[in-house]
Amino acid sequence: MPDVIILGNGPAGISAALYTTRAGLKTTVIGRDGGALLKAHKIENYYGFSQPVSGEQLIHDGLEQAARLGAEMITDEVVGISYEGDYVVEGKQGTQRAPALILATGSSRSTPRLQGLQKLEGHGVSYCAVCDAFFYRKKAVAVLGSGEYALHEAMELLPVVGSVTLLTDGKELTVEIPKEITVDKRALASLEGDPVLSAVQFKDGSRLEISGLFVALGVAGSTDLARKLGAETNGNSIVVDSTMQSSIPGLYAAGDCTGGMMQVAKAVYEGAQAATSVIKLVRAAKKA
Ligand SMILES: Cc1cc2nc3c(=O)[nH]c(=O)nc-3n(C[C@H](O)[C@H](O)[C@H](O)COP(=O)(O)OP(=O)(O)OC[C@H]3O[C@@H](n4cnc5c(N)ncnc54)[C@H](O)[C@@H]3O)c2cc1C
Repeated sequence: MPDVIILGNGPAGISAALYTTRAGLKTTVIGRDGGALLKAHKIENYYGFSQPVSGEQLIHDGLEQAARLGAEMITDEVVGISYEGDYVVEGKQGTQRAPALILATGSSRSTPRLQGLQKLEGHGVSYCAVCDAFFYRKKAVAVLGSGEYALHEAMELLPVVGSVTLLTDGKELTVEIPKEITVDKRALASLEGDPVLSAVQFKDGSRLEISGLFVALGVAGSTDLARKLGAETNGNSIVVDSTMQSSIPGLYAAGDCTGGMMQVAKAVYEGAQAATSVIKLVRAAKKA
């Protein structure tokens, strides 16, 4: 088992891995793609490059650097996280466990533009099945999404709620859905309910009565994952202290997912700080 799992292989995650590996910690880094840097064609405000460097080049070099120092690099999309004595990180390809976890998945959460959604957040609209399923015991709920993350959330809900409908909002499914889950591909128009969610309205004028809507678009973001563990979040950011620890011991966050300045320099600093905290934690646990 690794000493630490770093979720995200952008500048924050890789920077953390450089410190943990060099401190002798067994380190596993999980990432699905290049993150925000892939979209940055030219970076010229990061220290040490006399000429502009592409985001792609920075990612490539960072990955190579971490691998050379001994980090185990896993390409996978993480869909769930839980705590069972250790942090359990559930990916599409497999599950990893470690006593410490650094969330560094950037700021990628997709929020749907759906009329009525914002007003009903916390009043029938949820972003975390494992946190809120209990409130919808035996009730009809829906999951908004069409990929692996949406399926994961639907499967969390299934044993608790009355029924689960997967709303793809006109998108094609990218995963196979078990028959217990109803799939509805109609395009969505708005959410209804005051003060709590009562139905979803489709663009064709029809409606579906539901008590809960779980948003699981695209890939699970850091805040989605942090919430599953009960960590404090503020909007789309994970709340951390100056050591980069979240409100949960052993759970750290770094980079764009903690909010503030979204820049490589800040991500690299926060990754280094999170790693330094994890190194202390792991060494103390090994001594005890
Ligand atoms: C167009 C553009 C231009 C930019 N230009 C600059 C610039 O000039 N200078 C500068 O300093 N900054 C720039 N930035 C910002 C910079 O790219 C980010 O601040 C930086 O990449 C943040 O690093 P991060 O490690 O926090 O997140 P990211 O770089 O986004 O990395 C997140 C990582 O998490 C992984 N991940 C996410 N979700 C999952 C999941 N569920 N399972 C597995 N892995 C997951 C991704 O695969 C990725 O590896 C730019 C950003 C953009 C979009």
